[in-house]
Amino acid sequence: MDASLRRALPALHRLLETPEAAELLQQHPRAAVVAALRAELAGLRAQALPFETARSFAAARAALAAAARPGLRQVINATGVVLHTNLGRAPLPQAARDAVAAEAAGYCNLELDLETGRRGHRHAACAALLAELTGAEAALVVNNGAAAMLLALSALAAGGEAVVSRGELVEIGGGFRIPDVIRQGGARLVEVGATNRTRLADYANAIGPETRLLLRVHQSNFLQMGFTAMVEPAALVTLAREGGLLSVVDLGSGALVDLSAHGLPAEPTMGQAVGQGFDLVVASGDKLLGGPQAGLLLGRAAVVERLATHPLMRALRCDKLTLAALEATLRLYRDPAGLREAVPALAMLSATAEEVGARAARLLALLPEGLAEMAEGTSLVGGGSLPAAARYAPAAPASPPGNDRRAAGSAHAPRRPAPGRARRRY
Ligand SMILES: *Cc1c(COP(=O)(O)O)cnc(C)c1O
Repeated sequence: MDASLRRALPALHRLLETPEAAELLQQHPRAAVVAALRAELAGLRAQALPFETARSFAAARAALAAAARPGLRQVINATGVVLHTNLGRAPLPQAARDAVAAEAAGYCNLELDLETGRRGHRHAACAALLAELTGAEAALVVNNGAAAMLLALSALAAGGEAVVSRGELVEIGGGFRIPDVIRQGGARLVEVGATNRTRLADYANAIGPETRLLLRVHQSNFLQMGFTAMVEPAALVTLAREGGLLSVVDLGSGALVDLSAHGLPAEPTMGQAVGQGFDLVVASGDKLLGGPQAGLLLGRAAVVERLATHPLMRALRCDKLTLAALEATLRLYRDPAGLREAVPALAMLSATAEEVGARAARLLALLPEGLAEMAEGTSLVGGGSLPAAARYAPAAPASPPGNDRRAAGSAHAPRRPAPGRARRRY
């Protein structure tokens, strides 16, 4: 490097005495200003560039402003994916936001039974609602669906075998794979059947003295078609029961209501899985349920009790804010008529082409001319839910009426702008 240039770089303590630095010091902590100026000088030195007051302070100012911005901040989701994992999945219902704000500000009876004055269970309110809404004997809430699976496998199958169809050895995303979680739970995976076809006899032949449970993993994020066969849930449950084994289903997407009523493909609900007799049902709280990130476990009381008393439970338990948001979201499901209005994820997923088209037109009118145009699009449900909804026209919903003009092939969003607005350029 040019020695004259190095000499030309000002000393840090000199820079800190300038009026430009004084201005920065009014807005940012001294340590941050020092670090920003030091980094700027280091950069100039490395590139053998001279110090120019205006440009160099502008760079430091920009770096300080970037560091002062919150790391986690609001964005506009223009991806066309409603439950986008990278964007935080489901926006919370107003009731859930209110509940979070209220519980965050003060104390609450998180683990206190107000009736008896004794220690209570933190998930009691959510568990009672889940039981009411699904018919399950008992329920439990943990941090997310993956945690729920880990807890279930650890508590129910550790040291033994879990039997799964080869068609259900799913990767959920972010590298989370069912075979890995079974291993992590201390169980041995016994694969049965073929990728496309698994029969009841395959499960029956695999059952041995070490078998603890039969696991069904809902193919929530991909589709199989053609020469396929899978065992009816009720038959799997019966086989498990006859063998003195547990039956567990990982539903993934966690629908509580029949989505075909909202114009989406039918998805097995948690209540249906409970009704089919599974000993344990696992689902996510922030996929089709539209609530906060959570893992829901529901089923027979004796099984849920084994999970609740497992040492991992302490490591996987939710905080009060999650529980407040989840309870408020679940409460909304007591009123099916008001559900679509109250749960943003459901409202977006069931929006008609006309509704989304009108919203797009309003947005377009706010943008500078020529910046954007309105065109057909395809939306995805996302979050590993309802892969078919992107590809096939949903069945015409039973209610509300008027949805039958939805564009064919659209999940829920506009394929076609409303008549008269088609592809209008601005
Ligand atoms: C999404 C999903 C999970 C994981 O749930 P998270 O809440 O994302 O941890 C597990 N199993 C299936 C089948 C899923 O679709």
